[in-house]
Amino acid sequence: MDYPKPIKDLIEGYLTLPGIGKKTAERLALFTFSEMNEDATKRLGEAIINVKNSLYRCPICHNVSINEDACEICSDTLRDHSLLMVVETIKDVFIMEKMQEYKGLYHVLDGAINFAAGIGVEDININTLIKRIESGEVKELIIATNATTEGETTARYIKALLDDYDVYISRIAHGLPFGADISYADEMTLLKAIEGRRKY
Ligand code: ZN
Repeated sequence: MDYPKPIKDLIEGYLTLPGIGKKTAERLALFTFSEMNEDATKRLGEAIINVKNSLYRCPICHNVSINEDACEICSDTLRDHSLLMVVETIKDVFIMEKMQEYKGLYHVLDGAINFAAGIGVEDININTLIKRIESGEVKELIIATNATTEGETTARYIKALLDDYDVYISRIAHGLPFGADISYADEMTLLKAIEGRRKY
């Protein structure tokens, strides 16, 4: 016999998650049914709904925000608004913030240019980055995209786009092997990468 529809639906749901294959999705769906109590499943369901319903994307930096107009970082007047770090993902912001060293602002690209996968310039948040540079508030732009082919392509593209603007562009000194994701760096390596950033 086939799985009943509610289990099939849940398998389909888990399959939409990254890194989850058919077997894992089945195992998770059956675990949800047989091992989790009603309270736990309710909390999980509500948490999934809340993460979409109660949060926003910051319209300035594209980071996750509890406010509709600007995130906590963008609205923090104690931070250095002349320093802007470009990162690929929201996760990168949280990795940087964990160090409690960087006091500038961020710009989340939401990916990197990957022509082979059909991700072009218009698919990542570059237009809003240009607008922020045009405003003249940013004096230094730190490009902290990953040390991957996509990250390097994106860095070079941003650099070329901003060549005519009055902004100092630096690239973090990846003490990481080529191909590494910044989320794999430990705090010390990351701190050194920021301190050792060079004119790009
Ligand atoms: Zn923001």
